[in-house]
Amino acid sequence: MAVANELLKILACPKCKNDVVEHGMFLACEKCELAYPVLDGDVPDMLIEDALPLEKAKKDKFKHTLKL
Ligand SMILES: [Zn+2]
Repeated sequence: MAVANELLKILACPKCKNDVVEHGMFLACEKCELAYPVLDGDVPDMLIEDALPLEKAKKDKFKHTLKL
């Protein structure tokens, strides 16, 4: 499963309103260097407080263990 393209198009980083790109189990904002987790493979969690630093997400190979 993946985030629907239509959804990806309208999603933006809540912090800077920049586009986010899908990276494994995250949507990444490269401007803020934040990675927003995608829960259950297709539900993006766009809360700044839930975001991980992009570097950490990259180290974990863009995997997280968060679930709905
Ligand atoms: Zn951003």
